Amino acid sequence: MQRYLVGGAVRDQLLNIEVYDKDWVVVGSTPEELLQNGFIAVGKDFPVFLHPDSKEEHALARTERKIGSGYTGFDCYFAADVTLEEDLLRRDLTINAMAQAPNGEIVDPFNGQQDLKDRVLRHVSAAFTEDPLRVLRVARFAAKLNHLGFTVADDTLALMRQIARSGELEHLTAERVWQEWHKSLSTQDPQVFISVLKDCDALHIVLPELDALFGVPQPEKWHPEIDTGIHTLMVAKQAALLSESLPVRFASQVHDLGKGITPQSEWPSHKMHCHTGLKLIQSLCSRVKVPNEFRDLALLVCEQHSNIHRAAELKPETKLKVLNKFDVWRKPERLKDILTCCMADSRGRTDFETIDYPQKDIFELAYQAALAVNVQDIINDGFKGAEIKAELERQRVSAIAKSKLKT
Ligand code: ATP
Ligand code: MG
Repeated sequence: MQRYLVGGAVRDQLLNIEVYDKDWVVVGSTPEELLQNGFIAVGKDFPVFLHPDSKEEHALARTERKIGSGYTGFDCYFAADVTLEEDLLRRDLTINAMAQAPNGEIVDPFNGQQDLKDRVLRHVSAAFTEDPLRVLRVARFAAKLNHLGFTVADDTLALMRQIARSGELEHLTAERVWQEWHKSLSTQDPQVFISVLKDCDALHIVLPELDALFGVPQPEKWHPEIDTGIHTLMVAKQAALLSESLPVRFASQVHDLGKGITPQSEWPSHKMHCHTGLKLIQSLCSRVKVPNEFRDLALLVCEQHSNIHRAAELKPETKLKVLNKFDVWRKPERLKDILTCCMADSRGRTDFETIDYPQKDIFELAYQAALAVNVQDIINDGFKGAEIKAELERQRVSAIAKSKLKT
């Protein structure tokens, strides 16, 4: 039996970027032989084995034939006579269809190395259309490799469009959609995941709430880019520049969903969007099974971002109400995250990309001032029961009012 390093590890090594996980393909062997050699069997649909020492994934070389719908509708054939080239042929992109032998030699039957040089994401064969998950994977690789200059080949984009038209994307499970979206959030260009899905007509199927933002105008004075979809892409990029936090990046992407359902008669104004967006975020998150941590931050940012933008005009009482809403007293790390989303929103506009965001300082100062009010002092002063809370609020408001004077 022979084993080869395959897929992302070969690609990322040739690109000189960090390799996270190593996948191996084993040629000329059988499950029995691997088990005899101490490999541990995992995987339900096709046999994958963990190496006894490294625990890295080893799959037997296999071919796949489409038999049903969705990414699970495959008949896998694995046997000792499946060649390395046959296994590489079933892979999605040419840059993912290279193998490396133990002696370092690269096996590259589909010119993946040339496409790496040309910065092209290109499908391996027409069988690309057999698995709708590939649409999301390509969008995610486009996000991951955008900063190196990679784009999707026209022919590949056409096949992605064909998949979108076929109705097969509806068969993708929530877990798969979230897995790829989530991975895209940790790239340098999460906005590219959305824009590629838009370009291949998949966004309205997979994430219709985001798709609905395209074509919706905003007031030109505040939004020279006008289109809410374009604004959302810009905010997604700014969030990635400002924060490594994936919930922050996610919340920034969905903060304006309410603008997608503003009645046209009210355009370009969106007075209710902070409120109407909430139920869209709820339903999107439950459909795609977005973790609660992401959802909860997104809901707060959606509801409060307009308030935060107006920080300089808010009364101390209102500032305290906003802080209470965030539950900053029990979750102090939240304030920074929410303010970062709002800053990304502010910068995610044409010609505003480097603007200062003093609202952040105003709210941080207000928080620090309110935090300095000591409950114990209030109790020592003789307040009892419900009076304690009322006095605490009163003193916090007064502390916030003074903090404002100092700025
Ligand atoms: P990364 O690990 O950085 O996310 P990767 O390319 O290694 O990227 P994996 O999901 O680990 O992605 O898959 C390993 C390899 O298996 C891929 O490089 C590709 O060759 C192949 N592969 C995975 N999923 C598919 C798919 N849905 N269709 C075709 N080939 C696939
Ligand atoms: Mg991998």
